[in-house]
Amino acid sequence: MTSPPLPDPCLLCGRTDGRRLDAVLVCAWCGWRVGDVPDHDLPRPVIEVVYYIRYDRRVKIGTSRRPRQRLSSIRHDELLAFERGGRDLEQARHREFAAIREGGEWFTLTPQLGAHIATLQTVPDPWQLHARWIAEGLWM
Ligand SMILES: [Zn+2]
Repeated sequence: MTSPPLPDPCLLCGRTDGRRLDAVLVCAWCGWRVGDVPDHDLPRPVIEVVYYIRYDRRVKIGTSRRPRQRLSSIRHDELLAFERGGRDLEQARHREFAAIREGGEWFTLTPQLGAHIATLQTVPDPWQLHARWIAEGLWM
């Protein structure tokens, strides 16, 4: 299977590698169909995520339906990962790492927590994963 380049960068995730799905050229990463323009009058799909952001040696585990907005309001050094899920998953993670909780939603970045986060880092940029989830909500 060859992977033809997209004529223009993907509208959702900005990547340029494509693949053919039946007769349709789609973004190889998120599945965006070339030529499809999201209808801005329609609500975007709501994708709940649990986010992991690092500030110094601490990690905040939180959840949001609008992570771009949310993260812009929290001081942090780095977005480490997204995990697809909402409040239930967030609470489960808070329980899982209760022993290293520093306060609020902040946890010490221990090797154990780092190893968990590493399993979520399937792509270099968590926003690519987010774009794929949005695309799935739009077209799949
Ligand atoms: Zn894409």
